[in-house]
Amino acid sequence: MKCPFCQSTDLKVLDSRDSMDINAVRRRRECLQCTRRFTTFETIELTVQIHKRDGRYEEFQQKKLVDGMLAACRHTTISHEQVLTLASQITAELMQRQVKEISTTELGEIVMQNFLELDAIAYIRFACVYRRFKNIEELLAAIQSIQAKDDT
Ligand SMILES: [Zn+2]
Repeated sequence: MKCPFCQSTDLKVLDSRDSMDINAVRRRRECLQCTRRFTTFETIELTVQIHKRDGRYEEFQQKKLVDGMLAACRHTTISHEQVLTLASQITAELMQRQVKEISTTELGEIVMQNFLELDAIAYIRFACVYRRFKNIEELLAAIQSIQAKDDT
């Protein structure tokens, strides 16, 4: 990467912010040569197909993942910031594993495992959506499995 003003490659990152409209990371940079500042967008090259429950495929979008996670985290101890961090970690993990497709269920399990370590309420809420509990017994079984983990 080069400074758009003086072409120097001596750059410093000031902050980075997730831009949720696209799978991109926005960074504010400063050129150490001419001290001018500019913003760059780095697109995450991730082309994973989500295999949905109804059989259809949909391109993975980090924004959708974030929306689902935020809904589960409302009124819990997990902050907006943590959700964004988690989402980008999950995206990075998918990139590393070089998966071409992942089912909604598998993706849901990854998110749930992350939630489980942070906040049990968020875990249960997310599980309600992803596992689609058919009845209260299934929901209770999920809660009991957390309690069992806490006891060990
Ligand atoms: Zn410069």
